[in-house]
Amino acid sequence: MATKQDDTTLDLPPVNSDFYNILEHLPPEERAVFQQMRDFLEQEVSPIANEYWLRDEFPMHLIPKLGAMGIVGASFKGYGCLGMSFLLECAITMEQARVDASFQTFYGVQVGLAMASIYHCGSEEQRNEWLPPMQRMELIGAFGLTEPEVGSGTARGMMTTCRREGDVWVLNGAKKWIGNATFADVIVVWARDETTNQVKGFLVRRGTPGLETKKIEGKIAFRSVQNGYVYLTNCRIAESDRLQNAESFAAPAHVLRLARAAVAWSSVGCAMGAYENALRYTRSRIQFGKPIANFQLVQHHLVQMLANITASQAMCLLVAQMELAGTMKDEHASLAKMFCTAKMRETVSWAREVLGGNGILVEHNVARFFSDAEAIYSVEGTYEMNTLIVGRAITGMSAFV
Ligand SMILES: Cc1cc2nc3c(=O)[nH]c(=O)nc-3n(C[C@H](O)[C@H](O)[C@H](O)COP(=O)(O)OP(=O)(O)OC[C@H]3O[C@@H](n4cnc5c(N)ncnc54)[C@H](O)[C@@H]3O)c2cc1C
Repeated sequence: MATKQDDTTLDLPPVNSDFYNILEHLPPEERAVFQQMRDFLEQEVSPIANEYWLRDEFPMHLIPKLGAMGIVGASFKGYGCLGMSFLLECAITMEQARVDASFQTFYGVQVGLAMASIYHCGSEEQRNEWLPPMQRMELIGAFGLTEPEVGSGTARGMMTTCRREGDVWVLNGAKKWIGNATFADVIVVWARDETTNQVKGFLVRRGTPGLETKKIEGKIAFRSVQNGYVYLTNCRIAESDRLQNAESFAAPAHVLRLARAAVAWSSVGCAMGAYENALRYTRSRIQFGKPIANFQLVQHHLVQMLANITASQAMCLLVAQMELAGTMKDEHASLAKMFCTAKMRETVSWAREVLGGNGILVEHNVARFFSDAEAIYSVEGTYEMNTLIVGRAITGMSAFV
């Protein structure tokens, strides 16, 4: 993807990780919104991404600036959102991850998980209360599904419980890995009904007695994302804060299907960021009297990276188009997620490799992508879980247990 960082002083082709021009598939008005996000990322996020990643902090000062652009949650219809396409949302996801996968994750949790849960599973009243301020980034959301003892198996084994007492629900349990949890104004918490055994969703407001959050320390990926534990001890949540259209695990599964497709796009963006920075490096690093980009073995790696990226972009594009056409199923999103994240992992390793020793230094702009790829690989269903979803679809046999 040609960007402002391209070196125009040398007579070299622009650095471009969108080799087949997938952005051409956006209509002009969506392309303009995409460009707005790109400008913001290049001006505000790119210059500070490494610094905040190393400090393990999120650049909170960017949140109001992001909201002021008016383009957050671009694919939702109504509630202050632009009502544009899922393809635009996916392209924005890819672009964010191309610059900073941590920033993308913060955004993805807000839009693709928290807002999406309220949009798809909330009542009209709940949507009206939460979505406009979340669109303006005045309120921040989180999404609590995974638990300390149950990750891949949440559909069957969720341990967080809810129990109805009159007009109130009592929640008990713990969640782990929850992005934005430490500062979110509202956490969408999924819990199993003690009576019916069905999963329900709750809007747990910051300040609710019995709610505690604690930051997870020591991550080697997504370092600027504030992932946390969420502890719920006899939290009393009004029935009016139960997501009114979520009656079973099918509700979070619907949200996750879309989020999974978006994570496939995010993995492409991460690979693109690593590739672009690796290409720049190989054109300027001199060994044996020549830029290392001049060597055949280095070019082989660069072309392999571009091939992975381009194949993944094409796959993601088709998945987004299927969603627009209403034909995307779980297995379609899962195949893209498992394939593209595996290709991303390969790509970022080659990017790291062509930098030699400098590949492990954050300041050379590849190491962060290399590390973040590990988190992208595991979120929204691991490689194995997504493989099993596709395996079940093509064989008609479930191999989960
Ligand atoms: C950085 C980060 C951010 C996250 N953000 C959020 C968030 O905001 N909200 C949220 O709810 N969750 C979040 N998660 C959780 C994420 O979705 C889980 O980590 C993921 O679903 C895997 O669960 P687990 O880590 O408990 O691994 P486990 O389920 O313990 O799996 C461990 C390994 O066993 C394999 N495995 C498990 N079962 C099987 C099987 N039946 N067959 C074959 N292999 C199997 C898995 O594929 C994996 O390789 C986040 C995770 C990370 C790392």
